[in-house]
Amino acid sequence: AQERYASIRDLPATSKCGTTISLQMNAGLMADLPSLPSSGAEGVGLFRTELQFLVRNQMPKRAELSALYQRVMDAADGKRVVFRTLDIGSDKVLPYMTPQDEPNPAMGWRAIRVGLDKPGILRMQLQALIRAANGRPLTVMFPFIAQLQEFRDAKAEMQKALDREIKLGHPAPSDIKIGAMLETPSLAFAPDVFFDEVDFLSIGGNDLKQFFFAADRENERVRRRYDTLNVSFLSFLRQVVERCERAGKPLSFCGEDAGRPVEAICLAAMGIKNLSMRPASIGPVKHILRKIDLSEARAVIDKACNDGEQSVRSAITHWLANQ
Ligand code: PEP
Ligand code: MG
Repeated sequence: AQERYASIRDLPATSKCGTTISLQMNAGLMADLPSLPSSGAEGVGLFRTELQFLVRNQMPKRAELSALYQRVMDAADGKRVVFRTLDIGSDKVLPYMTPQDEPNPAMGWRAIRVGLDKPGILRMQLQALIRAANGRPLTVMFPFIAQLQEFRDAKAEMQKALDREIKLGHPAPSDIKIGAMLETPSLAFAPDVFFDEVDFLSIGGNDLKQFFFAADRENERVRRRYDTLNVSFLSFLRQVVERCERAGKPLSFCGEDAGRPVEAICLAAMGIKNLSMRPASIGPVKHILRKIDLSEARAVIDKACNDGEQSVRSAITHWLANQ
């Protein structure tokens, strides 16, 4: 399939109206990195660091992690890699951590909540990342940030890690960008200062959708009940886009929907300019984005919303069939 899109691999995902969307890939293991040049991805928009923790039977050491992150950055060859700090809990249980008996693990002690309550691992991870950057730029994002204070506390951990590394004689990254994942609706309503303090936001659509619709992403009976192209969800995304635009902060979307062509068109039409997806989706998404006019797609979406549709899917697929 990759070969089918080889002719557009090095071309930008520019729609007929002239808007260019940056397409990036999701990764988590060293084995994913060769896809970076072959897929035509501009960078790694989501590096799921927990995968490295999940494939082991004991906690990795800082030196091991730092060597691994260094290999990832070397393989990316100057392209940006967004390292997401450990996102464990919920469906991702580390074999060497005492399992938590929680009635609702997806809403439980997970991701940044674990990172802030038991900061040992987060600190080690941040130090390993700084060390791996070895004077190069570094981009880090924190998962499952639900409110301003969590972001501030996580950012303070980064500052502490940086101070410690500098004291130990390691060079500071030439630039550090710190972002948050928007995976809970609450973050979209954070005070303006949150949008000022964050360097970028990335929507984790898989989690966001389950909390927006209160539909467990692991529960087959309900997980497909609510459409990503539901008008309420799109209107919510639009508000996030507007807040980011007002604050001048880049916004990306890194859930599975970013890699589905129809969804990708709608996300881009709503004003999300960065999409991160599995490498094999980059070709098909780019192909379709280059064929259509995003401002027309936007008009189709707006009309379906005004007409009182529940989802814009049928309007947009009908429009697409005639492109
Ligand atoms: C998401 O929630 O959309 C996301 C990208 O994170 P994960 O799927 O790893 O929870
Ligand atoms: Mg998530």
